[in-house]
Amino acid sequence: MGGLFWPSALRGLRGGPRVPGRSPLVRPGSGLPPALKRGPSWTRERTLVAVKPDGVQRRLVGDVIRRFERRGFTLVGMKMLQAPESILAEHYRDLQRKPFYPALIRYMSSGPMVAMVWEGYNVVRASRAMIGHTDSAEAAPGTIRGDFSVHISRNVIHASDSVEGAQREIQLWFQSSELVSWADTAQHSSIHPA
Ligand code: UDP
Ligand code: MG
Repeated sequence: MGGLFWPSALRGLRGGPRVPGRSPLVRPGSGLPPALKRGPSWTRERTLVAVKPDGVQRRLVGDVIRRFERRGFTLVGMKMLQAPESILAEHYRDLQRKPFYPALIRYMSSGPMVAMVWEGYNVVRASRAMIGHTDSAEAAPGTIRGDFSVHISRNVIHASDSVEGAQREIQLWFQSSELVSWADTAQHSSIHPA
């Protein structure tokens, strides 16, 4: 079941009929003809998502992961950490002059957070839609903030707001060796070994 959605939903995007039995989420070196080997660039879009300290305290990490997995995105990096203030300062450098900045840094360093890198088609835009409006009062029900948060200063989750921002934030929070590229394989489509 899990493997059926993507091929049917995305079949038209490569401009031709799908190679039978192949997922359109093509990876380099997958055995296709050279012209198709790298796959379209959108297969490699990545974003930084972080469950903030209030989300960890409230045991919401699993729910966040579940939503991203169900949507069909691929988890390529994850770690729990107590965020160093130097990284938070860099992460939120554009907000340094805002009146809420000192409280934001205190909040973000008040306990462990869980940083993740998710990969997939339009994952930056889609994850912003999934987390909802920054201000919890404006966040639609069904979004993460709309379901779990009542105040802008405790809004549970972060997600990068642009592809460029995502690249900067991923490099800030992760070493490249901490990210794992992987693709769906038929090998693990059953819980029983063949
Ligand atoms: N924030 C806050 N008060 C505000 C605006 C923002 O405490 O009036 C915090 C909030 O945690 C928000 C973060 O600062 O998530 C970063 O703000 P941004 O505008 O980048 O919102 P986001 O991208 O997280 O939706
Ligand atoms: Mg932001």
